[in-house]
Parts: sequence; structure tokens; C-alpha cells
Amino acid sequence: MDLKAAIRTIPDYPIAGIMFRDITTLLGDAKAFRQCVDALVAPFADQKIDKVAGIEARGFILGGAVAHQLSAGFIPLRKKGKLPHKTIAVEYALEYGVDSLEMHLDGCGAGERVLLIDDLIATGGTAVAALQLLRQAGAEVPAAAFVVDLPDLGGADKLRALNIDVSTLVSFGGH
Ligand code: AMP
Repeated sequence: MDLKAAIRTIPDYPIAGIMFRDITTLLGDAKAFRQCVDALVAPFADQKIDKVAGIEARGFILGGAVAHQLSAGFIPLRKKGKLPHKTIAVEYALEYGVDSLEMHLDGCGAGERVLLIDDLIATGGTAVAALQLLRQAGAEVPAAAFVVDLPDLGGADKLRALNIDVSTLVSFGGH
């Protein structure tokens, strides 16, 4: 089944000029969701992955399913002020705006191998921030996986330059 066709595009959301790639249509389609999670997991089936880190909010849905399939733990990377225990934080630039990400300081142990998951990589600002947090917490991050790549925005290449093995399932040209 064509995963790209299962993703809905909403022009000018949340601001003019952005083509928003809406994966809720993919998530709502049982076969597409299953195929998507299987494809995200496939490259890591033979690798030792201790934990999956998912970026709020769509990365939670995908990351939780991937962690389950890999028998790995899950680390939530959350928007500011949502985590109850001691946190570390980093600010980053979005394709549209500025945001920050937090994780629990004890979210992972030193040297744990963590797979980073999100729905989409655009400029890579979010994923690089996530990587910074995870490395600060002592994680080893060999790889990151995304459903959608917007290659023209360069995020996947930015991550590769940081020594991350990047896998993506579908790509859309432009923004
Ligand atoms: P970036 O930090 O530029 O790589 O942006 C990636 C993050 O922003 C992901 O968490 C996406 O969910 C969201 N995002 C950025 N651009 C889009 C887009 N065109 N469609 C849907 N989500 C997007």
C-alpha cells in the first residue's frame, strides 16, 4: 500500500506558505499504520536498541508502537513544562517559529542506545535539539527514523552530518 497516498496535505497550515503533511489520515487507516510502523522498525530488527525517544506529540504515537515492537523502553521528549521530575531543556528553531524540548534528566542511562523517532523531518531543528538532549543525558544515538522527509529543507542531511543513520519512508519535494 502507498503510504504517501495515506498522508493528507493541508496547504497554508498553520501559517501561509506551509504545506502541512497531516499523518492523522495514515494513523486512522489500520493497514497503513501497521505498514508504517513495520517499515520504521525494519532497519533495527537486528540491532540492539535499548530505548526509543519520541518527540511530542506525533512522535509519541509512532515511537510508542516502534518501542513495543523492538521490546525497547520509551523516552518522551516533551514541550516545555510538561515533565514532572528534574529535566534538561534545549531551545530550537522550527520551520515555523521557535520552541523548546525537555526530557527527564534520568530518562536514559549512560551509554544506552537510543533510536530517535518523529513523524517528519523538515529543517532538522527539532531532531538536532532532541539529539543534543539525548547526548547530554548520556545516550548513544546511532539512528533516527521518520515517516516523512522534506529533503529540500535539508534536515536529514544535517543529521547524517552528525553521524546519525537516518531512515525515512516517504518524501515530498518543496516545503
Ligand atoms: P523541523 O524541526 O524543521 O525538522 O520540523 C519538524 C517538526 O515540525 C516535526 O515535529 C513535525 O511534526 C513538524 N513539522 C514541520 N514542518 C511540517 C510540515 N510541513 N508538515 C507537518 N509537520 C511539520
